[in-house]
Amino acid sequence: MAAVRFFVLQKPMTKKERYERFIAYFQQAMPEANTELHYANPFQLLCAVMLSAQCTDKRVNMVTPALFEAFPTPQAMAEATKDEVLYYVKSVSYPNSKAEHLVKMAQMLMEQHGGEVPGDFDALIALPGVGRKTANVMLSVAWGEARMAVDTHVFRVSHRLGLVARTADTPFKVERELVKNIPADDIPRAHHWLLLHGRYVCTSRRPHCERCGLSAFCPSSAVHPSSTRGGNGTQP
Ligand code: SF4
Repeated sequence: MAAVRFFVLQKPMTKKERYERFIAYFQQAMPEANTELHYANPFQLLCAVMLSAQCTDKRVNMVTPALFEAFPTPQAMAEATKDEVLYYVKSVSYPNSKAEHLVKMAQMLMEQHGGEVPGDFDALIALPGVGRKTANVMLSVAWGEARMAVDTHVFRVSHRLGLVARTADTPFKVERELVKNIPADDIPRAHHWLLLHGRYVCTSRRPHCERCGLSAFCPSSAVHPSSTRGGNGTQP
């Protein structure tokens, strides 16, 4: 007699449930989450974030102590030449343009903001070398605002976890979806959760699903039996 097989149909997880699982996991696993960049004030943070574009935080942390000692204030950096700044940042990626942006950014701080880093999105993105992502990092890290900076890690992990739609194919679309679905109080930490998870666990080339605490509900998990591998791994 032929064996009778029973299939238990699992209800697909709703987006709300997916976000709840994601937040609950990190609230427990990583209650404190912050930038790995070293800084002592908003000006130093802005310099470090600008230098970190397309570069590792580790490399940036190697150059900033000497840079900040040579140019401790916006005024000191505004009075420097590009080549003087370049001497300190030559080992980061795109050193020429970053050195130029640092000097011009410091000059604008002196000319238009009294030597202070503005805590306003529009004023931040008007600074040379500062884009949407950098401005969001500044507002979130320095001032605790509910801003989601979307870098390559945040973009990739959000897609792999199914937190955002496949159609969210730009950093701005991903930012909008994450901000809509994550409670405002959790947004500053959620940026670091996604970033650090992407940096150390859900890495670009080979995600470490075997040691990932999210694999039970991740639609891209390589280890969970109900996963659909690669289901939402869109790259920016
Ligand atoms: S289960 Fe794998 S693909 Fe999913 S978030 Fe974890 S490491 Fe990334």
